[in-house]
Amino acid sequence: MLNAPAQFPAPASQQRVSAAAGRKKVQLKPGRSLMDWIRLTKSGKDMTGLRGRYIEVTEEELAKHNKKTDCWMCIRGMVYNVTPYLEYHPGGEEELMRGAGADGTELFDQIHSWVNSESMLKECLVGRMTSKPTSVAKVSEKKSGLKVPKQTLLNGTSIPDGFEKQSKYISLKHEWFQTEDTITVVIYTKQKDINSDSVIVDLKGGVLRAEVRQQEYSYILHLELSHEVQEVVSVRCASKVGKIELNLKKLTSTIWNDLGQPREHHNSCKVNTDGGLFYRKCNLLSKMDISHDSRLLCFQLPPGCHLTIPVGQHIYLKSSIQDVEVVRPYTPVLPSLYPEPKDDDHTCTNIYLMIKIYPDGLQTPLIDKLQIGDCVSMSGPQGNFKYSQLKGISELILLAAGTGFTPMIKLISFTLKMSSFRRVRLMFFNKEEKDILWRDQLDQLSSKDKRFEVEYILSQPHPEWAGKRGRIEMSLCSEFLTVRTEELKTLVCVCGPTSFTEQAVGFFKQLGFSSEEIHAFSG
Ligand code: NAD
Repeated sequence: MLNAPAQFPAPASQQRVSAAAGRKKVQLKPGRSLMDWIRLTKSGKDMTGLRGRYIEVTEEELAKHNKKTDCWMCIRGMVYNVTPYLEYHPGGEEELMRGAGADGTELFDQIHSWVNSESMLKECLVGRMTSKPTSVAKVSEKKSGLKVPKQTLLNGTSIPDGFEKQSKYISLKHEWFQTEDTITVVIYTKQKDINSDSVIVDLKGGVLRAEVRQQEYSYILHLELSHEVQEVVSVRCASKVGKIELNLKKLTSTIWNDLGQPREHHNSCKVNTDGGLFYRKCNLLSKMDISHDSRLLCFQLPPGCHLTIPVGQHIYLKSSIQDVEVVRPYTPVLPSLYPEPKDDDHTCTNIYLMIKIYPDGLQTPLIDKLQIGDCVSMSGPQGNFKYSQLKGISELILLAAGTGFTPMIKLISFTLKMSSFRRVRLMFFNKEEKDILWRDQLDQLSSKDKRFEVEYILSQPHPEWAGKRGRIEMSLCSEFLTVRTEELKTLVCVCGPTSFTEQAVGFFKQLGFSSEEIHAFSG
């Protein structure tokens, strides 16, 4: 069996932020951006030293290539020579070396399951493993109540497309019923608090895919339907009995003998961190400038899609740049914070993204060029924030830097709707006044709802700026704190550049907050 390091990132690594924080990026040398990597891979250079040959690799052979100058790594059964990529790895060389000469799949999935390694490292492909090592699932079986079988051995010789994802299969019970005009698919989750936020459905081209998200697992139902249906779906959840109903409309009134043929991963569960995100095409409905460099874009989900984005979760947008798949996270927002959006402004079919355009960025200039009606590929929601973190909380302290404001938007709106929240305070860090997103709305909200307070802190203000200046520091954090009492339970939420998040988490820990009382958003 190949040795995968037990902990990744390493305890002392640059990539390991505090327990509450997420991925960390390191400063790369000039000329080592993702765009530079794409250029290098397209230059025709032999990236493997094998002149385009693919070989079969044994564990013993893989283990020999464990030095920076000769580093191979196995991801999902494929072996890559990652030496040329080391300097381009956003998490730093040391992190990548943790998987040197070994199976890095689990490490990879823990940190960036959403990155398509096959696309990113295509030119570094050495070949495939002769066998796939058995890997014990890390996720607690006890917690979820689901029994997870160990991964199985994979054999075969073809290279590399369609390499099957290592999901952990288990089935939930489902059945179907029909009337002359309708089909109803019922999934029994045995989970009492299930709601429609937990269900993602895509019905397109006669293929029905439903994903029921439970704590660490997603149950997948994936079928090519036996007859044609209209491309609309409605979802009903009977929370008390943990039952989900998917209602479809037949295109013609015929009686079906069977529901359809199974597609990939049908009737199975996959661990949520195992990657394999499902993307659907969404149309750009509108776009609006909200500052000199940021836009509010509204995307429409396709008619056969049912998907909601819970508070604090993000989605991924996928683009293809010179044939390399580039995926970036964005946190959906509301169409406005104040006045409150009308119901038809933010139906479940519209997803609003607040995006800052970085002129030298890889994906945002492409997004900026989108015209109304153009499509993007959008994943379902991901993220480590849970509603349960708000249970019993009466005060929120929010620290946002730049576009780190985006997860705060739904959080502010959601919590102010509840009378149990006595105070919601936002510290909003920006460079200049012109960078403050939705300042008017924030000011209006604070004058309308006295429970909401906002403070702007600028790191590069004009001399006449009368507000607070500087970057995050201890004195600012302690100044912002109210006297802590037994009955005022506080949750601190932080989002911004990694270094900002690290520092904020550190300061609040020094101020006596426990890890459970601090949430650091990571995208
Ligand atoms: P920015 O560069 O305009 O900086 C905004 C403010 O952040 C600065 O004024 C400063 O106060 C602070 N800051 C910046 N760099 C810092 C550092 N090294 N140390 C301490 N403070 C620092 O910000 P931006 O360009 O809008 O970037 C926002 C960041 O937030 C991005 O890194 C983005 O990835 C992250 N973000 C994360 C999520 C998420 O995890 N869910 C969501 C949205 C944005």
